[in-house]
Amino acid sequence: MNRKIPEEPVPEEPIPEELRERAYQGKSTKEDAFQLLEIPPLELFRFADELRSLAVGDAVTYVVNRNINFTSRCLGTCGFCAFRDMNGYILSLDEIMGKVKEAKRENATEVCIQGGLLPDVGLDFYLGIVEAIKAEFPEMHIHAFSPMEVYHAAHSSGITIKEALFRLRKSGLESMPGTAAEILSDRVREIICPSKLRTGEWIEVVRQAHAAGIPTTATMMYGHIETREERIDHMLIIREIQKETGGFTEFVPLPFLPYNNPLGEKLMKEGRYATPGIEDLKTYALSRILLHGHIDNIQASWVKLGKKLAQFALYCGANDLGGTLMEENISKSAGASNGERISVEELEWMIHGAGRIPKERTTLYTGVYRMAPGNSRKIQGF
Ligand code: SF4
Repeated sequence: MNRKIPEEPVPEEPIPEELRERAYQGKSTKEDAFQLLEIPPLELFRFADELRSLAVGDAVTYVVNRNINFTSRCLGTCGFCAFRDMNGYILSLDEIMGKVKEAKRENATEVCIQGGLLPDVGLDFYLGIVEAIKAEFPEMHIHAFSPMEVYHAAHSSGITIKEALFRLRKSGLESMPGTAAEILSDRVREIICPSKLRTGEWIEVVRQAHAAGIPTTATMMYGHIETREERIDHMLIIREIQKETGGFTEFVPLPFLPYNNPLGEKLMKEGRYATPGIEDLKTYALSRILLHGHIDNIQASWVKLGKKLAQFALYCGANDLGGTLMEENISKSAGASNGERISVEELEWMIHGAGRIPKERTTLYTGVYRMAPGNSRKIQGF
């Protein structure tokens, strides 16, 4: 007897064609973002990976750098901070220069400098650091001072943000970390960092930095009290700024670490812990899709995600693994246990292990370093 084999139902395309089209054109909407978060994660990752491939190909970049956190003292009151310590350390200029020298010895091309907000410290303090480094190491890229630090320096000195940025640029500051963004929602900021600059102020400092010729990164610290909508809005705000200024070099989603800080302790009492890995990867994928056509580089933080999840993020839209760091205080204080430094060899091992091509980049993604005859390193275009 002939048994009729039932016809396989044609599977529905999980991502509608119009939504895909809008993403290709860099025009994904807030509704698209909500819809994307509902589709099966592997489909989301696949789409983000496709856009990553279109935007930057198979190279995975990293930068050889050194973090320098010049003080742990801070006037701030951020509930998520485990680093602040009013009796903590302040590095002298000599100590800072010692760290820059160490960075130079280890072939770093960038120093990333940030610290707490010191009382009675104005712009001259920040200029002094930049000028001292540039005087001794003119080729070292100085990536320093968050929008909050610039705001603090300008206010303490009684000058405008514009003037502070102009003077920093003139003294040798080449780019700024787009930290202190947390979630760009005043509702959220009022709860987690009430004394920090407001959403509009963060945007204004960043806009003015870009106008002054200082590119910045863009970050988002997610996974605490923000809603999905606030997270999506944050990414769309970043996209709008980028349309206007073109000054962001990369987007870095940073999961909130709930340990050793008041906000995390409160959330853990309510049964909410660190973000699940799947949520991290979905956030990475969503950022790649929402920012497609505007910001090409999505950085996976191996410090926050751990090396293995950061490697997998390379299949969820990320194309950069950040820096070698050599020292890391902020995430470590909040419970990160992924180490403070990573060697170039290990980063390249991770990248090869993901089937991608490692490239050491400049801070601004303007080229890659290649070994040249005589064992020196030269910058070439991508
Ligand atoms: S996050 Fe920064 S500004 Fe806020 S308390 Fe910590 S060190 Fe200060």
